[in-house]
Amino acid sequence: MPDAPVKPLDVIERKGLLYRSGLGFDCINHVLGCSHGCRYPCYAFLMARHHGRVRDHAEWCRPRIVGNALPLLDRELGRKRAVPPQVHLCLTTDPFMVGHPEVGALSLAIVERLNRSGVPCSVLSKGVLPGELADRRRFPCDNTHGISLVSLDEAFRREWEPGAAPFAERVAALRRLHEAGRRTLVHVEPYPTPGIFAQDLSRILAEVAFVDHVFFGGWNYSSRVSQDRDGEAFYRRQSSTVRRFCAQHGIDCELG
Ligand code: SF4
Repeated sequence: MPDAPVKPLDVIERKGLLYRSGLGFDCINHVLGCSHGCRYPCYAFLMARHHGRVRDHAEWCRPRIVGNALPLLDRELGRKRAVPPQVHLCLTTDPFMVGHPEVGALSLAIVERLNRSGVPCSVLSKGVLPGELADRRRFPCDNTHGISLVSLDEAFRREWEPGAAPFAERVAALRRLHEAGRRTLVHVEPYPTPGIFAQDLSRILAEVAFVDHVFFGGWNYSSRVSQDRDGEAFYRRQSSTVRRFCAQHGIDCELG
């Protein structure tokens, strides 16, 4: 039986695209919502609901794409003073959302447009990073290619990141970009305490020993962590593990 036709995403219009985040770097979020539907919960969802941009989690999981993203970006890059040193995709959605190729296509077009203006990008995804990102003619800047990875266990993913790509597919896509000579990053956050999910951090790090940069951070925004009496000591031990691993493998280490 042929696959059911994929319903095109709803479209929204925005007045601006590039912005400086509260974290101090420049970002683009060209989609409202995210079908990955993470349940840590997702901070971007909490904020969108708080500000009345979505009613509930079900609406958050039906993403709407910014239809005028590229003309907006052209206009913003045309203003000389506005050209940022680097742009991050994305802080409040996923640029390579599973099951939504139009989101990935727009993300690639945005990175291409920024690179054409000499602006490098960092991308971070729980989807599958496309192989096109290795193409230096289309993407000439030294972009950084990141995946989020807090477990290797698919039972964890099904419970906490139900719409995201399987872990092995994320790692394989990242490895392909590394092998093509691209800069890679793994974002190990929010890392669960044993009370949420017991696992061995060393095994996860070993899977991504090829990356250039590791970011490690704890499980925020959930009262379940404060129920773990050993939480602080646990994160101190995990941070030491990450620091040691990065030193052994010559990897840039960043602790959240
Ligand atoms: S992938 Fe990111 S933006 Fe999407 S639901 Fe998960 S945490 Fe939120």
